[in-house]
Amino acid sequence: MSKPNVTVVDHPLVQHKLTLMRDKNTPSAIFRKLLREISLLLGYEVLRDLPLSTITIETPLSEMQAPILLGKKVVFVSILRAGNGLLDGLTELVPSARIGHIGLYRDPQTLQPVEYYFKVPADISERPVVLVDPMLATGNSITAAIRRVKAEGARDLKLVTLLAAPEGIEHLQRTHPDVHVFTAAIDSHLNSHGYIVPGLGDAGDRMFGTK
Ligand code: URA
Repeated sequence: MSKPNVTVVDHPLVQHKLTLMRDKNTPSAIFRKLLREISLLLGYEVLRDLPLSTITIETPLSEMQAPILLGKKVVFVSILRAGNGLLDGLTELVPSARIGHIGLYRDPQTLQPVEYYFKVPADISERPVVLVDPMLATGNSITAAIRRVKAEGARDLKLVTLLAAPEGIEHLQRTHPDVHVFTAAIDSHLNSHGYIVPGLGDAGDRMFGTK
């Protein structure tokens, strides 16, 4: 499925690791390790257009103009709790990134997001923002999170997710068409409980062994 503003990162390493994560017999410790590894590969794609400047340095052989990241550091905003699994790898890639957290849980009856925590950098409006949440299912949580960071002034927004449902992508494109999504796969559909099929189950439970 090819959609505007959606990049499916189909690199063989990502796809291989994702298959291992989907397998219900993969233990939590391995699941977390794979998620961190995939986040490095997704991060490579999502950060591809970070602006560069040049500085003068001296190599052992000569002086040169060498590229260096320009401007205000990116903000990674993790949607708790499963977002933290992607955050670890991304902060390894950009150790000086600023970090925000948004605590949302899905009401199991309505599938609507309920906010219990919100903390982002005060100058988020001046920085590129990458939201991280492994599962784009109904899109209710992520659109609520995007609404909240836009209310704080954020304008330059991207989303990194591991798996997306077509329903979630459509929801996001309808409500926030400016937000580019990077994902490892777009699955078939959502089931009646709002889970992605075939998916990988509940990402938080798989990460933390809570079920
Ligand atoms: N959240 C998850 O963790 N898994 C899904 O399949 C959908 C939402």
